[in-house]
Amino acid sequence: MALDLNHIRSLFPVLHQEVYGKPLIYLDNAATTQKPQAVLDALSNYYSKDNSNIHRGAHALADRATAYFEETREAIKIFIGAKESAEIIFTKGTTESINLVAATFGRKFINEGDEIIISTLEHHSNIVPWQMLCEEKGAILKVIPISDSGEIIFEEFEKLLSSKTKMVSVVHASNALGTINPVKEIIQAAHKVGAKVLLDGAQSTSHLDIDVKELDCDFLAFSAHKLYGPTGLGILYGKREILEAMPPFQGGGEMIKEVTFEKTTYNEIPFKFEAGTPNIGDVIAFKAALDFIDSIGKKNIKAHEDELIAYAQEKLSAIKGFIPVGTVKDRVSVISFGIKDMHPFDVGMMLDSKGIAVRTGHHCTQPLMKRLGLEGTVRASFSVYNSKKEIDALAEGVEKIARIKN
Ligand code: PLP
Repeated sequence: MALDLNHIRSLFPVLHQEVYGKPLIYLDNAATTQKPQAVLDALSNYYSKDNSNIHRGAHALADRATAYFEETREAIKIFIGAKESAEIIFTKGTTESINLVAATFGRKFINEGDEIIISTLEHHSNIVPWQMLCEEKGAILKVIPISDSGEIIFEEFEKLLSSKTKMVSVVHASNALGTINPVKEIIQAAHKVGAKVLLDGAQSTSHLDIDVKELDCDFLAFSAHKLYGPTGLGILYGKREILEAMPPFQGGGEMIKEVTFEKTTYNEIPFKFEAGTPNIGDVIAFKAALDFIDSIGKKNIKAHEDELIAYAQEKLSAIKGFIPVGTVKDRVSVISFGIKDMHPFDVGMMLDSKGIAVRTGHHCTQPLMKRLGLEGTVRASFSVYNSKKEIDALAEGVEKIARIKN
């Protein structure tokens, strides 16, 4: 089904503006997506009609806010195919979700000499928390190597697995190259040695249909702001029995059952991991983002984005001096590239002057860039509201810039 792009674009007020006198072409969706009017309205409605603290059952507003807040949790459960909404924990973002697992699962279940496996493709958020844990516990971090095209080498991953492996934490889809990892196979292999698996779903959740039950991952971390939702809101999915076995993350209100000066008992999941007043307004508004995705359908979004990426590859690869980075076929809608003899930052600046927003640099994947022998790349990333016309403008811009040196 071809999407009604005019209609979809009309739902996103931010897209209708000029920068430097040129119509904005927003191709930085892997960094964050724009928000439909329904999300902005939901935020405004919450603060103008329902603002109240939740889960305290104190009065009508508190009841309403609590009901809306929990509706979002239920919607997320359905969105990722979790068994129950208690397995959905609200955090600040993917980063905090991964830190939560490293800090709590790690504190209890990872000891000296144990091993944690990540991959060369990881975002810093899925490297540093594990490094910190390894330093604290004397555990060992192992890294799955990748091929020059940007795919993990599965046989090398299998060689790293052993009874010492306690956690495999890998990105589902790379933010820098777009590579989609074979996560089902990774999970099956990791489970065979008794390791748990965390998927960094920051990029995959917006593009791929995800069913955590079918994947059988133990954890999934992702961010609302990459899914047309507000910033500062993340989600951690975890299997009930694992979450129950983990100690709490932070101490404070909400996460307790009973407090005495002698001993505190903890609340049930998910509240055990949600200390303090949560990001109520943004959680409530995120439901509108999920409704927006549902109204179009994940499959239709993916088909549209696949068409855009194929079109962009065709147009850009015809340009003299264009150097693709990461050449795997199975990818989310991210295209990373360089221009011969030009610094990515300069290319990005020149595109910006044409109203085209892309990202340049290491994309928080410095070890990946080092492996590829690059300082950084130019990254264009597409979303449901992008069009072939915008890709024509990108290709025209890149062509003109490349001509300076090629
Ligand atoms: N992991 C990946 C693959 C990402 O792309 C990002 C954000 O760009 C993150 C983790 C961190 O997400 P956040 O900054 O929303 O916590």
